[in-house]
Amino acid sequence: MSRNIQAIRGMNDILPDQTPCWHYLEQVWREILPAWGYREIRLPVLEKTELFKRSIGEVTDIVEKEMYTFTDRNGDSLTLRPEGTAGCVRAGIEHGLLYNQIQRLWYQGPMFRHERPQKGRYRQFHQLGVEAFGMTGPDIDAELILMSAAILEQIGLADTTVLQINSLGSAESRAGYRDLLVSYFSDHREQLDEDSRRRLHSNPMRILDSKNQQMRKLVEQAPLLSDHLDSESREHFQRLLAYLDNAGVGYQVNPRLVRGLDYYSKTVFEWVTDQLGAQGTVCAGGRFDSLVSQLGGKSAPAAGFAIGMERLVALLMDSGLERICASGPQVYLVVVGEAAERQGMLIAGQLRKALPRLRLQLNCGGGSFRSQLKRADRSGAELALILGENELAQSHIIVKPLRGGGEQLTLGREQISGYLKTKFL
Ligand code: ATP
Ligand code: MG
Repeated sequence: MSRNIQAIRGMNDILPDQTPCWHYLEQVWREILPAWGYREIRLPVLEKTELFKRSIGEVTDIVEKEMYTFTDRNGDSLTLRPEGTAGCVRAGIEHGLLYNQIQRLWYQGPMFRHERPQKGRYRQFHQLGVEAFGMTGPDIDAELILMSAAILEQIGLADTTVLQINSLGSAESRAGYRDLLVSYFSDHREQLDEDSRRRLHSNPMRILDSKNQQMRKLVEQAPLLSDHLDSESREHFQRLLAYLDNAGVGYQVNPRLVRGLDYYSKTVFEWVTDQLGAQGTVCAGGRFDSLVSQLGGKSAPAAGFAIGMERLVALLMDSGLERICASGPQVYLVVVGEAAERQGMLIAGQLRKALPRLRLQLNCGGGSFRSQLKRADRSGAELALILGENELAQSHIIVKPLRGGGEQLTLGREQISGYLKTKFL
């Protein structure tokens, strides 16, 4: 006997019971994003490896140990995208969308990172990504934050998520701060774990992002970037907070929020919930003013965020909200006998034409009256329509309620579409 082949660890099948929840989420942002002036861009999942090395940074978790990289048949090194911003900027430069222009873009799709799989952390996961190009002021940062808040509110998560926000300053102010950090952590070298020692000189700010509890105290006492911000970044941040105050959006300034990718500058933010255990960040973003020029384009300011879809789906499923995205049949058409089967297919066709939004399931594969009714019940439908020899002969159809009692009734063939319309649509 041969063994079953199973899915790759950390890569999930999304089963029919869950897809309605995904559709629901997608529908929420397909309404909100265009209403705020954002347009969809669709990007390949494979890019040249170089793109991610140059953008995310060589000394980051993602590039150092999480990328799915392989050599293709031409000998080129390719990588399954671990995030969407790099590809979006690449496409923007390539198609002349960014030069001297304002662009508001979004995309969604699978991302790939070879991380340790656990609840809320997978090797293939999905993001909604939103990016805005060409605007330097804090108003666009505020717009992005307000829009992410609108999405979370629409899904019913506003009360269980909090906004954390910080400023990373300019690249220059970070350079000075970096030296301070290196000397602080060097003084406490014996308390650093292996990863952090490696980062000490290459990327000391990432030590602040360490999830190692044993280093927590050391990290908490490290010098704060907020005490060393350049004046322009400080002002940008204050103006952003004023916009948020003005809009009534609550936030926590978290001076230790640094984010895992190198390309951020000035504003960074995360929406965090305590309902998902350790993987509580459902949305994360910030400014990346130097990324466009870093990837070869003419310098253009930019900001964006990404929402992790699996984490939102988990929250929705936990909150029982999946009921609002029901997708099973409303009506099940029982057809007993060959003549009724033939006629049933025509009736189903007419009903679908007359009521395109009705969710109607036609019995296929025969079966006795009893077994078909059982299937109808299991399908979750509210009504069974019954067509047997008698009904055929009299041009009738029987309507049998399947949930919560209610009388069975007999309708003429021509009445059925009107009846279903008032009942369901
Ligand atoms: P984390 O701190 O959770 O590792 P990150 O900083 O690596 O997140 P980003 O690259 O900014 O995350 O991605 C934005 C969002 O995408 C995260 O907030 C999270 O919701 C989601 N996300 C990131 N990595 C994964 C993953 N491996 N599995 C599922 N969702 C993920
Ligand atoms: Mg991560």
